[in-house]
Amino acid sequence: MTDSHPTGGDPAESRTTEHPVHPVPSTRARELVRGAYDTHVHVAPDVMQRRVGDIELAQRFVDVGLAGFVLKSHYVPTAERAENVRKVVPGADVLGAITLNASVGGLNPVAVEIAARQGARVVWLPTVDCTNQRESRAQAPAGAVPPMWAQIQDDLAARGIMAPAIPVVDDNGPVQALRDVLDLIAEHDLVLATGHLSGAEILQVVRAAAEAGVRRIVVTHPEFTSQRVPVDAQRELAEYGALMERCFTTPHSGKVTWEQFYEHVRRVGPEHSVLSSDLGQPFNPPVEDGLALLADGFLANGFSEDEVHTMTVVNSRRLAVVDAPAEISVDAGRVRA
Ligand SMILES: [Zn+2]
Repeated sequence: MTDSHPTGGDPAESRTTEHPVHPVPSTRARELVRGAYDTHVHVAPDVMQRRVGDIELAQRFVDVGLAGFVLKSHYVPTAERAENVRKVVPGADVLGAITLNASVGGLNPVAVEIAARQGARVVWLPTVDCTNQRESRAQAPAGAVPPMWAQIQDDLAARGIMAPAIPVVDDNGPVQALRDVLDLIAEHDLVLATGHLSGAEILQVVRAAAEAGVRRIVVTHPEFTSQRVPVDAQRELAEYGALMERCFTTPHSGKVTWEQFYEHVRRVGPEHSVLSSDLGQPFNPPVEDGLALLADGFLANGFSEDEVHTMTVVNSRRLAVVDAPAEISVDAGRVRA
C-alpha cells in the first residue's frame, strides 16, 4: 500500500524488512477455521501504524472464507466504521467495539449506551489506562516485542496528557460505574471483554457480570505480561462461563512461551478458549492468516480438529453472532474426548 522508502525513512517498513518471512498457514488449517470470526484485530485507520486497512482486510477475509472480525481500538469507538465497511464489503461481517479507556471517559455508561445504539458488539474494560496496566512492574521475557501503544502512552505522559488510572474495583468490590456499565452490557446482550485487568480484578468483575446477567464474557489474553492470570484462576473463571482469549500475538511476540500457551489451553479446556489474532502490527504476519496459523500450531501440538474448530469457529460465533447461543456449554467431555 505505501510507497517503498529505499533510504529507510519509514520505521514500520524497515521493521518489516527485518522480518520479511512470515509462516504461511496450511490449506487444512484454512479450511478448519472457515466461518470463524477474528474477535480482536487492530487495523487502519488508527493512531498508530497498521499493516492493513479495514476495507482491504474485509475483502481478504471474504477471500479466505472467514466470517468477519471485530475492530479493536484502544482509543475510539469503531461501530460507525464497521457499518461503513459492511456496506463496502457485504460478504464480511465487520463488527464495532468500544474500549473504556480515558479517551471515552473510562467506565462511562453514556459511551457504552451510545456504542450499543450504534451496533457495537464488544465492550473492552480499560486496557492502557487500567490501574493494573499502569501499575504493573511485570517484566516481559528477554527479547519480547513491546506493544505498539506503549509508545503513544509514553508520548502522552511526556506531554503531561495523562488521565488518572481507571479503577474497576476498590476495597468494597466492583465500583458503581462498573456495575452501571455491566447492566448496559447485559441489557444489550453485548460481549464483555476484560481488558488488561489483573487476575484478582477479573474474578471480581466476572462474578459481578454474571450477577448482572451478562451472557458473553471474554477474559482478554490472560497470558499478557501485565496480567499473567494463573491457570487455577482461569479454570475458576471458566466455571462462570467466561471464554479465555488466546491471542496469536501473545506468544508470537514472546510474552509467553508457546509451550505454556498450549499447556494453559489443555488445563483449562479448549471448550473454554476462543482464539483470536490481536494482529495488525506492520511487522507481524498478515491479519487474515492469524487464526489459521494458530490452528496449525494447535494441530501440531496434539490438539484435535474438533478442538480447534471449537476454539475458532464455534466459540467466536457465540460471541459475534447475535442470535447464536451465548451460554458456554459446561458439558466439556464431549468436546475434549
Ligand atoms: Zn489488542
